[in-house]
Amino acid sequence: MHELPVMNSILAVVLKHAASNQVKKVVAIHLQVGELSDLEDAWMQQYFDYVSKGSLAEGAVLKIERIPVVMRCSACGHSFRINVKDGMKPLCPECGGDKHSLVSGREYLIKNMEVL
Ligand SMILES: [Zn+2]
Repeated sequence: MHELPVMNSILAVVLKHAASNQVKKVVAIHLQVGELSDLEDAWMQQYFDYVSKGSLAEGAVLKIERIPVVMRCSACGHSFRINVKDGMKPLCPECGGDKHSLVSGREYLIKNMEVL
């Protein structure tokens, strides 16, 4: 269960941004979450509601967009997207290599927020 600390850190960033922009209320928060992340949308919203209670961001709706998993081939340096549902042992489409490192897919970030 990683949602609680993640939501706390997202809330901290949102409130900091709100304070420096004279925001009265945060209505929605657009998040980008990597497809490999085990953060669940429903839990994220529940935990966010919990941690944001009594703050400017209370009641804000999380709009979650999944970002694709990108790997880089260790042999030829080619970067390519993979479909998580196909499993985690894809071959490089350029050279057929099977050693890759993760470029993106596990991160989460705040894309923007809607405020009053
Ligand atoms: Zn390759």
